[in-house]
Amino acid sequence: MEDYSDHIAIIGAGIAGLTLGIMLNKNNIPNVIFERSSHVSENGAGISISPNGKFVLAKLDLLEDLQKISANCKKTIFYSNLNEITNIKTEVLTTSRKSLYDVLFTRYKRQGGEIKFDHELEEIDLIKKQISFKDGNSCIVNHIAACDGIKSKCHSSISSLNAKTKYSGYSVWRSIFKSKQDSINFHLGSDFHVVSYPVGENKVSLIAAVKDNNRMVESWKERGSLDDLLREVPSSIIKKYPSIKDSEGIYKWGVYIRPQIEFMYKKNITYLGDAAHPIVPFIGQGACMALEDSYALGYLINKHNNLGDAQIHYQKLRLKRVRSIHRKSLNQARLNHIKNPFFVAIRNFLMRHTNIIHNRTKSIWSYDVTSKLG
Ligand SMILES: Cc1cc2nc3c(=O)[nH]c(=O)nc-3n(C[C@H](O)[C@H](O)[C@H](O)COP(=O)(O)OP(=O)(O)OC[C@H]3O[C@@H](n4cnc5c(N)ncnc54)[C@H](O)[C@@H]3O)c2cc1C
Repeated sequence: MEDYSDHIAIIGAGIAGLTLGIMLNKNNIPNVIFERSSHVSENGAGISISPNGKFVLAKLDLLEDLQKISANCKKTIFYSNLNEITNIKTEVLTTSRKSLYDVLFTRYKRQGGEIKFDHELEEIDLIKKQISFKDGNSCIVNHIAACDGIKSKCHSSISSLNAKTKYSGYSVWRSIFKSKQDSINFHLGSDFHVVSYPVGENKVSLIAAVKDNNRMVESWKERGSLDDLLREVPSSIIKKYPSIKDSEGIYKWGVYIRPQIEFMYKKNITYLGDAAHPIVPFIGQGACMALEDSYALGYLINKHNNLGDAQIHYQKLRLKRVRSIHRKSLNQARLNHIKNPFFVAIRNFLMRHTNIIHNRTKSIWSYDVTSKLG
């Protein structure tokens, strides 16, 4: 194994890992990414990037590249029982995970970044700063940036956060299929909500979150069927998307809740993205948090000569923000799935006649980590 003793070892070539790599390369800080898959794997899904995530992409000069290959919706329409409640101007970029990965990966490689595929982290020795892989190889590194996602080995090797998962009672269906659409559509119902948006290349991503007492597996790869989807979500809504039957696949993901996080670093490891703070996906903030974390850590490592100081400042900046997003994500499901007709009518009235939507998203979306750091 090569000598990486002056490198920051980034574990995972996902959104957090690639973005951190780009930030470090930009500042000539030696780094290497270790990824367990044989390629950058985007899981064929859609993704929405709200303004707080777009600030990071813009600062890295990646936003325009991404916009060129994404859908650029102008409005978001909210429905209740297929009746429009209201519509608002869209500030969110909707795209495919593939497009986002392509843009990040291309930049990282163009900067001369080094990725070791087929390297699944197995063990960490924090005293020796040694990381070991499933194939038996190991190496000494200067620091570990844990970007290995929701079931982070980097986290489970030093804390019990991942052991304390609890099924949320919600499952999320997802599918991408050929279709044309120029708005983001939200269907709010009792015990479910459906979001569909264009991702570019005349494709639409559909996500349906449903209350589901059967404990589902937490996996991007768990297949579902259209018949099952139709049993769980009113067919009147799914019928609006006839080409879903020819989709690239219908998948079902069990949403699990983890306790609030207490720390974002331990000794020589710093945690980013889902590895730091796994959150439920109900306000679409996981990837945006990964972008914010990676920008912040990359910036602070460059600013402070010492990694220990960078870690302290990173946690100080990020912990409060990610804890608040964790709370808000959990609350959103309750609001989306109101059952009682009286409260549904009040919610719809407030959405139609007040600034409630703007006010709920403002503190999340207007946060610009790049201007906070300078
Ligand atoms: C249904 C659903 C819809 C979502 N929609 C949105 C949305 O619209 N907007 C949004 O902002 N967020 C959304 N999210 C959340 C978002 O997908 C995640 O928060 C985001 O991908 C986190 O990025 P990450 O880099 O931390 O982790 P990941 O993207 O999961 O990347 C982790 C990487 O680490 C690698 N890896 C894992 N273990 C190891 C190991 N032991 N050794 C080496 N490599 C390893 C993996 O192969 C992977 O490449 C959604 C999530 C779900 C479940």
